[in-house]
Amino acid sequence: MSTTWHILGAGSLGTLWAARLARAGLPVRLILRDEARLASYQAAPGLTLVEQGVAHTYPVIAETPDSPQPIQRLLVACKAYDAQNAVAQLQHRLAPDAELILLQNGLGSQDAVAAQLPQARCIFASSTEGAFRDGDWRVVFAGHGYTWLGDTGHPTPPLWLDDLEAAGIPHEWSTDILTRLWRKLALNCAINPLTVLYQCRNGELQAHQCEVATLCAELSELLECCGQPAAAVDLQHEVERVIHATAANYSSMYQDVANARRTEISYLLGYACQAAARHRLNLPHLQQLHVRLVDELLARRLPHD
Ligand code: NAP
Repeated sequence: MSTTWHILGAGSLGTLWAARLARAGLPVRLILRDEARLASYQAAPGLTLVEQGVAHTYPVIAETPDSPQPIQRLLVACKAYDAQNAVAQLQHRLAPDAELILLQNGLGSQDAVAAQLPQARCIFASSTEGAFRDGDWRVVFAGHGYTWLGDTGHPTPPLWLDDLEAAGIPHEWSTDILTRLWRKLALNCAINPLTVLYQCRNGELQAHQCEVATLCAELSELLECCGQPAAAVDLQHEVERVIHATAANYSSMYQDVANARRTEISYLLGYACQAAARHRLNLPHLQQLHVRLVDELLARRLPHD
């Protein structure tokens, strides 16, 4: 009998994973916020995943954090700012050798969760898949991609990667997951805050090439100082490539702000600035960018942490 996949958070990525695992016949249980969210879910026919315009509904079983069953494997699919509290609510249910897969973007939340659960195995993930909610319990699979998974403490891949294979979730075990997460964080810091400040699509940053280049130089310095030289290699070229390749897109941070949603700033640009301060690195443009972004969020009455 396969181990149950408990999925914490039935948002975009949680639903994308839950639907594909359930479709492959694997045991899945969703953990929803509270009784009210559970009642709302139970009034729906299940989780609906829309792929290439075709919707399929999967009647995945759901529960609240108060449910009594022990948890052996937990996919944490909340936003970075919710992960630590959401996992804390489940701490009493986690088996001593439980495994957690942390899907959060940026850095900081993974270490916070791992520190709270010294016995558990925490696997960090970095995903280029894209999904968004277009209704309650309904998610659109918008961008095919890859998920890299890795464990900074133990290089051995877990056996359940076979489940991902069976579910058709493109993935790769990575022995340098921190480098991947730092690289993605640096790309995000060079692009996303500017799209919020200039209120533009990614491609319009081509008109701000000098500013982007200055940020890339400071981010490269930071990566090297933080022991991540591989994440700094050719950063500016990759940032320019991403700006070009995603020219028509609005960044995730732009979309969060446009929809008056909380951003993950503290785990992206905020994390980078804190790391710079820890290393007594003076990165004036990055720090100024952080101040400008915080001011913009305050002006829009959005959380700035
Ligand atoms: P999302 O759609 O906002 O989903 C987050 C879910 O977590 C929501 O359903 C929320 O519940 C739930 N949640 C929060 N606190 C909870 C708690 N205490 N108990 C149970 N559920 C809780 O977010 P997302 O877009 O999937 O993003 C998740 C992470 O993946 C983020 O760090 C994001 O940056 C990263 N990521 C996302 C994508 C993407 O394409 N979406 C791609 C790559 C990486 P409610 O529904 O009740 O609010």
